[in-house]
Amino acid sequence: MIGVTENLAIISDLLTQSAVEAGRAPDAVHLLAVSKKQPLSKIIDAANAGQRDFGENFVQEGLEKIAQTRNLGLVWHFIGHLQNNKTRVVAENFDWVHTIDNLKTAQRLSKQRPESLGPLNICLQINVDDESSKSGITIAKLPELAAACSDLPNLNLRGLMCLPAARSDFSEQRLPFAKLRELANELRSGGLEMDTLSMGMSGDYRAAIFEGATMVRIGTAVFGNRT
Ligand SMILES: *Cc1c(COP(=O)(O)O)cnc(C)c1O
Repeated sequence: MIGVTENLAIISDLLTQSAVEAGRAPDAVHLLAVSKKQPLSKIIDAANAGQRDFGENFVQEGLEKIAQTRNLGLVWHFIGHLQNNKTRVVAENFDWVHTIDNLKTAQRLSKQRPESLGPLNICLQINVDDESSKSGITIAKLPELAAACSDLPNLNLRGLMCLPAARSDFSEQRLPFAKLRELANELRSGGLEMDTLSMGMSGDYRAAIFEGATMVRIGTAVFGNRT
């Protein structure tokens, strides 16, 4: 069986290849290794292979892994749906939250973020396909939420995130990612400073990189199937 170290080397090459094909600098695309439902041993293997950024969807599971890897200097990203009764532990333990879709949650995180840790990095999750089953704000509400979040003292608004509906065709996959890129550009021309487009997963990272992804969130292609 191919291990995590080999998978990371393969993915890293594929990300570089996609970036070069897209005419972008390979170091502009960062790998967020999504470790939800993966054992600690695989996270440690990935860390030993040089992987720094990890993504978790479930608060309790993430907290346990963070506690067990304190000495490794890893960067932890919360990428799941965040309930308001769990914001405190997230503010106290994670480095990033990618899934902000309402002001109340952002306000709580800002208030609960220990100042000693520096600002919590956030991305706003956009429901690009306008799917009723999915989290994320509508495009219409984005400018107001972005402006309000950028004013919160203990948060650093880094960019936008999306989780589009699965599509198999490459040019179809690019459409929602292109939309996210345009939305980020509009906010930037309105004066907000943002450097992150969190988009693309195991099945569509190449399309995301072609549309400007700076952080691709990849789980199964790094760690294998989830338990
Ligand atoms: C699980 C998950 C991923 C990774 O998905 P893979 O298909 O395993 O690469 C990325 N982003 C989010 C928000 C996820 O929940």
